[in-house]
Amino acid sequence: MQDKRIRKLVIVGGGTAGWMAAAALRRHFQGGPLEITLVESSEIGTIGVGEATIPTIRGFYQQLGLSDIEVMRATQATCKLGIRFDGWLREGHAFIHPFGLFGQDLRGVPFHHYWRKLAQGGEPTNIQDYSLGASLAAAGKFMAPPRNPANSLSIFDWALHLDAGLFAQLMRRVAEDNGVRRIDARITKVNLRPEDGFVASLDLDTGATVEGDLFIDCSGFRGLLIEEALQTGYESWSDLLFCDRAFAVQSEGVGDPAPYTEVKAQSAGWRWRIPLQHRYGNGYVFSSRHISDEDALAELKAAVPDRLLHAPRLIRFNPGRRKQAWNRNVIALGLSSGFLEPLESTSIALIETGVEKIKALFPDKDFAPELVDEFNDWSRREMERVRDFIILHYWANQRSRGEGSDTAFWRDCNAVTLPDSLRRKVELFRQRGHFVRYRWEMFQPASWMAIYAGFELLPEMVDPALDGIDAQALSAPLAEMRKAIAEVVASAPPHAAFLDQYCRPA
Ligand code: FAD
Repeated sequence: MQDKRIRKLVIVGGGTAGWMAAAALRRHFQGGPLEITLVESSEIGTIGVGEATIPTIRGFYQQLGLSDIEVMRATQATCKLGIRFDGWLREGHAFIHPFGLFGQDLRGVPFHHYWRKLAQGGEPTNIQDYSLGASLAAAGKFMAPPRNPANSLSIFDWALHLDAGLFAQLMRRVAEDNGVRRIDARITKVNLRPEDGFVASLDLDTGATVEGDLFIDCSGFRGLLIEEALQTGYESWSDLLFCDRAFAVQSEGVGDPAPYTEVKAQSAGWRWRIPLQHRYGNGYVFSSRHISDEDALAELKAAVPDRLLHAPRLIRFNPGRRKQAWNRNVIALGLSSGFLEPLESTSIALIETGVEKIKALFPDKDFAPELVDEFNDWSRREMERVRDFIILHYWANQRSRGEGSDTAFWRDCNAVTLPDSLRRKVELFRQRGHFVRYRWEMFQPASWMAIYAGFELLPEMVDPALDGIDAQALSAPLAEMRKAIAEVVASAPPHAAFLDQYCRPA
């Protein structure tokens, strides 16, 4: 019988996507006949941003046999308990989106109904005080979550802020140690098979040619294989998400690093501030339809409090996705498969799930159309869910109601026509406090809760199961929950002390 197994896997690009894929797939197929080659051009370089992650990154590197402390030391990382949104609802208002739960569900009814009932009874409380992750973050503290939490009040998770260049180097080391072959050369031509348009090989500027059965395109925004060679097409969501540029700049690290990403609303977008052990990453993500590059740069420079380490770098992007993440024998991963924008740090997480999809649907040389369809369907849905979550952050702003913060950008965000998938979610939450959960959701109800509460999009109706409870009777048990969290926070070490003790490079 003919052996149809894929023998030669070629990864194009050595940024975060390329090296994460190389490290993970080499490990997954260890001992087998699959050869993995990665081609990258050190002349072209990588995008060099992508420093904030979500907790799934920890599962990803743990599967490679790396511990949190090893990765934190190798990448000068700090701990991330969530994101602090400053000025998004209105100027002067802030809230934290933590990686963790809020409160404790009682009698099978979700906690937020009890919280709302107490508020409607005249005792409004801050939902953040029911989240250990958010409360630690607000206090500038960090501790690892308990392995065996006594109840949901102590359930939270965490992620890293890491140096993207150092992380790619770490992934490269793991991949090469396990047998991935690296070629440093510029790809000058992509050769297609005349009979079916599949990619046959790549010509390099060294004069060599690299052949492959399956190609993973991690070449960044340009999509060297998926777009330039196969002309797959791109679905732009620029009518839903206006930001399409960013200035990125690193600055000196001064003061104790916060255990969260700071994201602050600006006149035509938002600014990030990401603390690493040795420096800060800063950037202004903006809409070129609403502000000029010059004005955005001036706004960023005026806002960064410390010394810049280089001239800010302008990056252009088009929010959207590749129409097919998998086309013929090419699978796009990372920026070549699409990009929404940096808010909520979803891009590296989408690389992780992309790698999982490749593992789950790895083909043979027949490239069964059902596998390709499943991969593309899953990728599309996942990306649309993330898109909806991000749109919510802009659409729900009330900046036009605040003095001095009203700009055309934020008004235009209010006026966006929500996709039906998101409208349904928002309506069901507003009417009944109900979370709609589709397949392939990256963000779970607790994350949606954080954003709904942060933007004061709250349900009018409390679960009728609580009709028999007097709101005042909830005062004591909910105060107990806040107290239990406050006690843990009081005993936790400052984030800087945790880093000093465990995470500084050796
Ligand atoms: P790149 O880093 O662009 O790598 C492309 C590779 O292809 C390079 O190695 C290059 O040499 C190679 N290549 C290209 N052409 C050729 C050729 N002809 N021959 C040989 N090699 C070639 N994500 C997050 O998760 N968190 C964040 O906080 C975050 N912030 C971001 C902020 C901004 C402003 C932007 C634009 C993105 C951000 N991202 C973030 C996304 C993140 O940066 C990317 O998902 C991640 O870096 C992966 O990039 P990549 O590997 O796909 O592409």
